[in-house]
Amino acid sequence: MCAMTNIRINASTRYDVSVGSGASEQAADFIRTALPRVNKVAVVTDSNVDVLHSSAVVSRLADAGLAPVKFAFPAGEKSKNLATYASLIDFLAENRLDRTDIVLALGGGVTGDMAGFAAATYKRGIDFIQMPTTLLAMVDSSVGGKTAVDIAAGKNLVGAFHQPRAVFCDLRFLDTLPDGWRMDGMGEVLKYAVLRDQSLFGKLESAPLAPIGESEIAACIGMKRDIVEADEKESGMRKLLNLGHTFAHAIEKLSGFGISHGRAVATGIAMASRAAAKRGALSGEDCVRIESLVSAMGYDVHVKFAATEIADAMMDDKKVEGESIDLVIPHGIGHCAVCRMPLAEVGKVVADAV
Ligand code: MG
Repeated sequence: MCAMTNIRINASTRYDVSVGSGASEQAADFIRTALPRVNKVAVVTDSNVDVLHSSAVVSRLADAGLAPVKFAFPAGEKSKNLATYASLIDFLAENRLDRTDIVLALGGGVTGDMAGFAAATYKRGIDFIQMPTTLLAMVDSSVGGKTAVDIAAGKNLVGAFHQPRAVFCDLRFLDTLPDGWRMDGMGEVLKYAVLRDQSLFGKLESAPLAPIGESEIAACIGMKRDIVEADEKESGMRKLLNLGHTFAHAIEKLSGFGISHGRAVATGIAMASRAAAKRGALSGEDCVRIESLVSAMGYDVHVKFAATEIADAMMDDKKVEGESIDLVIPHGIGHCAVCRMPLAEVGKVVADAV
């Protein structure tokens, strides 16, 4: 077996993230040794990943003496809804998974969020494992225990905190990833660089289109670990991870989810930077560096929607609390802060940001 990077997450549940080529091959052994009461494994995947990877994963589980069952749903953010969630729950019940059995999320952020939410709620909560197949899910959504589905009013508005028992980031999965998906993940990588890693930012500046490898992926997961360990339930510091996201959720929604999450995040980071520079929180020079990198990585620096449309869409965001909204504002490359602002000011901030 190849060398792996192992990252221990000390959240309410302690678990390891294995990063490396072939990491997914460890899952069956892990279940056998760490979770010996598991018999059935519900492998949850989407129609794209199903074709590529599910048979290898399922047969490895069966070879280890486990009883895998597979649930595949149509790929895409549009499937991340209460209807698919309900059919997944029915599937778990029909297959008689009990509280000692486990869900294995094999796929990107949509799969992980929805399978995790099913695991969080089925029989009041069973264990689950994340096996991310996209860069975005590896560096971001598979770690930290946020699970959710979307409803008409907005993304991720129904969900739960439920930490996985293990995360296996198999870098071989990235070889099968279409280019657009890599771009999607790089939006979150950029987020970590602006948030707290000047050296990663410098690396991206010097080679904005180069593929990233194990060490950069592990660095992003390490940053996420630090933040999640400090604030698992997002009462404070974890809000930093929403850099670019409040704008991004509005962009995604206005585009009918035609603009993917990571792309929207990259544009959202440029927007947050302009809003910060306008208020004097970020130097003009750093703002230009961030905008230049967003552009060099192939993302839109400006949105095609009107400021008023964006501001309206932001009102449905989870980050709205009473009469205020939390926005993450860069103060420099590698330094950001959460800024609480009255809803009455949102229109002006968005006008500065577009
Ligand atoms: Mg995100």
